[in-house]
Amino acid sequence: MEHRHLGRSGLLVSEITYGNWLTHGELVARAAALSCVRAALDAGVTTFDTADVYARGAAEELLGEALRGVRRESVEIATKVCLRTGDGPNDQGLSRKHILESCNASLRRLGTDYVDLYQAHRFDDETPLDETLIAFDDLVRQGKVLYLGVSEWTAAQIRAALDLADQLGLRNRIVSNQPQYNMLWRVVEPEILPLSVQEGIGQIAFQPLAQGVLTGKYRPGQPPPVGSRAASGGRAPMFIRRVLGDELLRRVQELRPIADEAGLSMAQLAVAWTLRRPGVSTALIGASRPEQVTENAAAAGVRLDDEAMRRIDETLGD
Ligand code: NDP
Repeated sequence: MEHRHLGRSGLLVSEITYGNWLTHGELVARAAALSCVRAALDAGVTTFDTADVYARGAAEELLGEALRGVRRESVEIATKVCLRTGDGPNDQGLSRKHILESCNASLRRLGTDYVDLYQAHRFDDETPLDETLIAFDDLVRQGKVLYLGVSEWTAAQIRAALDLADQLGLRNRIVSNQPQYNMLWRVVEPEILPLSVQEGIGQIAFQPLAQGVLTGKYRPGQPPPVGSRAASGGRAPMFIRRVLGDELLRRVQELRPIADEAGLSMAQLAVAWTLRRPGVSTALIGASRPEQVTENAAAAGVRLDDEAMRRIDETLGD
């Protein structure tokens, strides 16, 4: 497994990050969830992503359990704060109160004294940005957090945070952004990627497989395969239901010859594509079975050539 710097920071992250959003404590049984982490470690993945809100904290607990016995210094653990975690008025957002309390709760659930990366899961326009940045900076000073990041912030929000941190003289800047980014969802390209490259903000590209759609297993005109995420009915997230139209699925099938010629599975092609995009430090995958982790992680180190990248663009069009 190759590693890359997270943006301009000194932190090295594995090219593949394993994330446990829906797959730990929600759609996937505990034993499978634990074996996915094991498979990730076996494949050389060292970076793991979770959040306070995933499965109401159960995902962090499971990740902590799965990593027990693993030398703490050999892995990078990332978690997040902002989305609602309880019924109380302060159980959400990026106030100083919620950030400090939620971080302590995450550390307890993960069974660790610090996380390597702490991310603002969303922007909170009801909390002054300086309050958030100072609370984040304090967590680093307390040794509970090593690096700071954001997720799904706009270019203007990232710019504002960088400028304000400079004005406030904060030493601990944002080093990463975690956006949804895959062949079918490219909204970061016009503004967020150029700003991030310029400012040294590393992209942690989540859902490189578009929740499984880019593996090619969903076929036009056919019901989703039994046991797949899309087959989980009302529990399947909106995004996957939205991208399951026949026209799109047909175009995804047209990627198959490109994958075959490169000697890759379609899942590997999708991950390798993400890793070729400018500013991407790591591709943040999910999996419901350990074999998927092994397959997807093999895309690390693959460098698609320009011709393959061009043909993918041409196939998928706008
Ligand atoms: P992916 O796009 O990687 O989809 C993963 C799913 O695709 C798997 O659970 C599996 O679903 C299917 N799959 C994976 N590999 C294969 C394979 N080789 N063959 C067939 N099917 C496969 O991303 P996720 O939606 O799981 O998200 C990944 C991570 O991104 C999350 O865990 C989280 O850490 C992060 N994330 C961050 C968000 C944010 O706001 N910051 C939001 C959402 C996610 P199945 O087998 O069930 O069909």
